[in-house]
Amino acid sequence: MVLGASASRELGSGFRGQVIWPEDGGYDAARAVFNGMIDRQPLAVVRPVDASDVARCIEFARRHDLLISVRGGGHSVAGHAVRDGAIMLDLSGMKAVQVEPETRTVRAQPGLTLGEFDRATQALGLATPLGVVSVTGIAGLTLGGGLGWLNGCYGLACDNLISADVVTADGQLLKASTHQNKDLFWGIRGGGGNFGVVTSFEYQLHPVDVVLAGALSYPLRAAPQVLRFYDDFVKAAPDELSTAVSLALTPTREPAMFIVVCYCGPTDKGEQVLHPLRTFQSPVDDSIQPMPYAALQSARDEGFPSGRLHYWKSGWLGDLNDGAIEALMEFVPHLPSSASGVGLQQMHGVASRIAPSATSFPRRAEQYDFLILSQWSDATDSDRNIEWTRALFQAMQPHLEESVYVNNLGDEGPERVKAAYGQNYQRLVALKRTLDPDNLFRANHNIDPSQI
Ligand SMILES: Cc1cc2nc3c(=O)[nH]c(=O)nc-3n(C[C@H](O)[C@H](O)[C@H](O)COP(=O)(O)OP(=O)(O)OC[C@H]3O[C@@H](n4cnc5c(N)ncnc54)[C@H](O)[C@@H]3O)c2cc1C
Repeated sequence: MVLGASASRELGSGFRGQVIWPEDGGYDAARAVFNGMIDRQPLAVVRPVDASDVARCIEFARRHDLLISVRGGGHSVAGHAVRDGAIMLDLSGMKAVQVEPETRTVRAQPGLTLGEFDRATQALGLATPLGVVSVTGIAGLTLGGGLGWLNGCYGLACDNLISADVVTADGQLLKASTHQNKDLFWGIRGGGGNFGVVTSFEYQLHPVDVVLAGALSYPLRAAPQVLRFYDDFVKAAPDELSTAVSLALTPTREPAMFIVVCYCGPTDKGEQVLHPLRTFQSPVDDSIQPMPYAALQSARDEGFPSGRLHYWKSGWLGDLNDGAIEALMEFVPHLPSSASGVGLQQMHGVASRIAPSATSFPRRAEQYDFLILSQWSDATDSDRNIEWTRALFQAMQPHLEESVYVNNLGDEGPERVKAAYGQNYQRLVALKRTLDPDNLFRANHNIDPSQI
């Protein structure tokens, strides 16, 4: 679609942020997102500075019948932050963060990365649960759920939201909380960007300073025994312990398994809790030690540079049963890319006990977020990597729940979105019909208002 000169002027006038058109320098950098598979040409990249700029863009998009896509940190693997021919609402410049130590709360704008957010709160020895790679954006992560190292003790990122400022499809700025616009508040805690554009998040903070964290490494051949022990051990562990497993190739291409842990209570208690896991079978390496929480949060960043080609498949896994372990043992040695990995991020403790209907994030249980995270650099390797990923996913499917964590989804069709929301899907559709009946916000894992 081509906009006339007067429409272009209209978008620019009164708008305090930046508008980048295809002919402008910086357009290619501005439209790029984390996943290098995504190469889309938006009509314009629009960088608002505040909520009134956001409202102006939404009104403009409605008036000209334009699709609008929203970018926070740009890390959605599906690449929903950018769409061909759309207005790309890029919030990455909105990075204000204000910590209130007395109330242990923080107000944060949606352009912040996890690392930027953690830096502000860690200066006061505080944190809220986010994800495990610090270059990810807080906005998309929180709106889809947000599973990380503090989930056992304090829940998901969305469970720690106190309120949010949301510009809805009709251009209104609403406060959503347990007191105001309660349905909207329910919807944005899991329902992604379906209900509006969040211009400010308010989170509960918790005292988190030094944690006992690090990895146990094993050759893959030890995995069957270790994983069976691990499965029983972590499910019975106290809430303070959150863990993840990763299966990958070492730099010398040896298949290996890593158990990563974070104990966020007193270190001496953590040493006792972790003793059986650390001694059950001698790991090749044990790097578990007290460390600043912020150091743990950025420990994995190097493995996820922007611009690599990504293809992911995922599902919730209840138990590490024999069949699942066999499938992993068969496929992991043949990983086509040494940058890829298979992850099992544990949902535990508080995050697992919250009622499935309390927020729109439905899947609450002691379980693992099973994720085949394939990444590579050379486009000629794409077919090989995608085929391997699909084959492993197929082998794992009998062991996985139908449900999937929405933030891991690629463009996998409406049935997978429905499966992600499970029992909360109908309520989400009803809310979408009220707040966005024309489906303006559809560049996302879409709750389609026309669905029954
Ligand atoms: C390297 C890597 C590590 C990850 N690790 C974790 C992890 O540990 N835990 C976890 O839970 N997830 C993790 N994820 C998944 C992550 O939660 C999603 O990719 C999430 O979408 C990232 O948010 P973003 O703001 O960076 O993405 P974007 O691509 O900018 O946004 C994703 C979508 O969210 C919506 N959105 C974004 N901002 C707003 C807003 N302000 N208002 C309304 N809608 C908005 C839009 O629909 C947008 O298209 C990881 C992803 C990557 C790539």
